Amino acid sequence: MSRGFQISDCGLKATPDTSGVGRDLLKWYRRHRRDLPWRRSRDPYAVWLSEMMLQQTQVATVIPYYQRFLGAFPTVHSLAAAPLERVLALWAGLGYYARARNLHAAAIQVVTRHGGKFPDTVAGLLSLPGIGRYTAGAIASIAFDRRAPIVDGNVARVLARLFLIRTPIKTPATQKRLWSLAESLLPARACGDFNQALMELGATVCTPGSPRCESCPLQRTCAARAANIVGQIPRRARPPALRRMHVVVAALHDADRYLFERRPDNGLWGGLWQWPTIERGDEESDATLLKSLARRHALRRVKHAAAPDAIVIRTLSHRRVRFSIYRCRVSRKRGVGGRWLTLQDAVKLPLSAAMKAVMAATEPAPRRARQTSGGRR
Ligand code: SF4
Repeated sequence: MSRGFQISDCGLKATPDTSGVGRDLLKWYRRHRRDLPWRRSRDPYAVWLSEMMLQQTQVATVIPYYQRFLGAFPTVHSLAAAPLERVLALWAGLGYYARARNLHAAAIQVVTRHGGKFPDTVAGLLSLPGIGRYTAGAIASIAFDRRAPIVDGNVARVLARLFLIRTPIKTPATQKRLWSLAESLLPARACGDFNQALMELGATVCTPGSPRCESCPLQRTCAARAANIVGQIPRRARPPALRRMHVVVAALHDADRYLFERRPDNGLWGGLWQWPTIERGDEESDATLLKSLARRHALRRVKHAAAPDAIVIRTLSHRRVRFSIYRCRVSRKRGVGGRWLTLQDAVKLPLSAAMKAVMAATEPAPRRARQTSGGRR
């Protein structure tokens, strides 16, 4: 029997009585929460770091990065004092590199403008680079026990089911409603635990594909379960089509040393290192683009095969990138810009997972095609 639904002439109304949600959820969380490294501290620096890493990234992926990062930069002062390149190297493989650049910029601001102490309000946290409404709410509630709501993908799914929200969850109107509902559910105390409990429920019980409603502490309150349409909620708008990119890569090498260049700070893979690359338009030929890549580094007479030595396809969040890779033997004495490194030394640079896949596909056996996916890296 469902608890607390309002009954009208029309039958069951999708407005559950949520007065017991805070109590039930906190009780469940204290018994069932996973022991995750960032839950052992309420230090705002550690909370912030974990929240930045967890955006769009699985918990299991984040754990070793989080531990390595905290080991290298145990305080906001040590992060602010580090060169950006070292920060990017420790981040390499996590994807969404703007997060790492923002992390570094925000650490500098915390040290230079706030005396090394994080602002303790949502408004103050929002003034830091890379901190949006969700991250500000998470830090304010978990580290400072502020009464601040949060809505991420897990929370949105739980709330959409709990309140039987039938509109696509990413639309601005639905987001506004979700934030308002999240705020209305906050208990008077322990808001940090409550927010984490909502996220934990979404991650471990109210999962996208096969929610375990029989183990859910909110099962008697949940409107989607009462209506028997859990599988249809949340509704999603059709995702945008993947943008296709074709990138030509020049593996310019002199014996065992390869030329690496640094990407511009902003945009895709900003600030990371790579073999020289250039995006190809429909009308352009690989040979012309390889010449312009060589000119970029003042190299002439670049010899390469007529066809790519390897092709790598990577699927990122919004695009599918096809890399056509050419091995090009040159004399580095003539080149300018970039760094000439062995592959063993190059792996110490911040490289995207896509560039590592490009390098792996080209060595040691050329002329093979490899398709990889999973990414944003
Ligand atoms: Fe999610 Fe099922 Fe719990 Fe409803 S009862 S909140 S659908 S797990």
